[in-house]
Amino acid sequence: MGGMTATGSTDSPATDPSARAALLARLRDIVGVGALLTGDAAVAPHATDWRGRYHGRPLAVVKPATTAEVAAVLALCNDAGMGVVPQGGNTGLVGGATADASGAQLVLNLSRMNRIRVIDAANNTLTAEAGCVLEAVQAAAASADRLFPLSLASEGSCELGGNLSTNAGGTAVLRYGNARDLVLGLEVVLPDGEVWDGLRGLRKDNTGYDLKQLFIGAEGTLGVITAAVLKLFPLPRERAVAIVALATPAAAVSLLGQLQRDCGERLSGFELFSDACLELVLRHFPGSQAPLAARAPQYALVELTDLRANGRAAAFLEQALEEALAQLVISDAAVAQSGAQAAAFWSLRENISEAQAREGANIKHDVSLPISAIVEFLGETDALVARAFPGVRLVTFGHLGDGNLHYNVSPPPGVAAAGFLDALAEVNRLVHDQVARFRGSISAEHGLGQLKREEILRYKSPLEIALMRRIKATLDPKGIMNPGKLI
Ligand code: FAD
Ligand code: ZN
Repeated sequence: MGGMTATGSTDSPATDPSARAALLARLRDIVGVGALLTGDAAVAPHATDWRGRYHGRPLAVVKPATTAEVAAVLALCNDAGMGVVPQGGNTGLVGGATADASGAQLVLNLSRMNRIRVIDAANNTLTAEAGCVLEAVQAAAASADRLFPLSLASEGSCELGGNLSTNAGGTAVLRYGNARDLVLGLEVVLPDGEVWDGLRGLRKDNTGYDLKQLFIGAEGTLGVITAAVLKLFPLPRERAVAIVALATPAAAVSLLGQLQRDCGERLSGFELFSDACLELVLRHFPGSQAPLAARAPQYALVELTDLRANGRAAAFLEQALEEALAQLVISDAAVAQSGAQAAAFWSLRENISEAQAREGANIKHDVSLPISAIVEFLGETDALVARAFPGVRLVTFGHLGDGNLHYNVSPPPGVAAAGFLDALAEVNRLVHDQVARFRGSISAEHGLGQLKREEILRYKSPLEIALMRRIKATLDPKGIMNPGKLI
């Protein structure tokens, strides 16, 4: 690969057409003709993010099928100083998997690396490649009578490598933790093409720095995750799901506390959404139905699971809800009477993001707070937003059990999205300063990507930023990994 660098930077592939053609030819040799996409039409599906906010112009999209191919691609790009943007299912919400507009970055799409390598039922682990769609990982675990608990609304298309690189959260964090908590080992290709085989399936391993945790949540800025050893759990045999009507977020926090106290580990999901969210889902998903006879200001979706199918999940849920009704913590509740109804309840919650996208542009925030601060945060912040931006619709929902809110702001009815988005920086400032005031995080589960790369500088200390930059410089000295993202 020396030939590429020996000629010097004046004819780097970024600026020199013949160097570019040579690089593309070598990439084609590595992955095969069908796995190197060039030309606007072929790269288009990989060039824009899920929200349609970032439009990149990648030189090409390369789709390796093996770890060795990923290693060869990275070695070549590192030599050539070519920026590489890893990409999985491209469902990320912060522009992390989108190339820039220079025409000089390569998208490295992992979707062809989609093998389940090993299921070790006795060890309760599963080893899967980065390009496995999350749903396929869940199904593989279920086929071995186990649960892989990571679950998000995008699970039909997001991929394991993307889930780990964003340290995805989702709806089961309350019981099982984030993606970070579900990984025992990793295989990573470093920027220079070296392969780190850290595919260990150990629950105890105190042998120094936990290197895998550096790559989890790194958004592709330190290397490419090619495979992972994942933790599996016993498969619940029974599930009880309810939607509950509440007057205020404070009531939801009380209910959460009661359920944690009385149901313990059975509580596997606690989601909050406002009536504005339900309204959007009913409008944009014609088959959907309001879950309760009367509308309420807030709803909680509660899920309990049990490892034995003997009615205990439902019994615990019903007793807890009866007590909450008697104490006037909640005003109504519907417990799903079938799997289909439980799925319908979940889809009301899971379709909110998509319904909001169909409604038009909006200003999103993915924040986390100590649960004890949420009520005060919402009270203050809702009032400040309403005063500063009269008429806006607050579309707030999220994983209340984890202190994670998607605090989204839609334009007033009838106001064009384009004009409204001019207020983006001001709305962000107001909301994020409020988050900081309560010692929360401005990115709970979606990452920083391009969207919050600048914003984070205001909220992390200079020391934290400097430490992150030192790690980046050590692992990726030429800065080829996902330039312009996160850091
Ligand atoms: P991509 O979008 O392809 O990539 C995401 C980031 O990871 C990019 O920075 C990319 O460069 C990097 N990357 C991808 N693969 C690799 C790899 N193999 N090695 C190194 N870096 C890599 N997220 C949540 O956390 N919780 C939710 O509840 C949730 N709900 C969502 C609902 C909807 C409807 C949608 C559209 C998205 C939602 N998301 C949620 C966001 C998104 O689905 C997650 O961030 C998901 O983990 C991204 O996976 P992906 O394969 O699509 O990654
Ligand atoms: Zn979420």
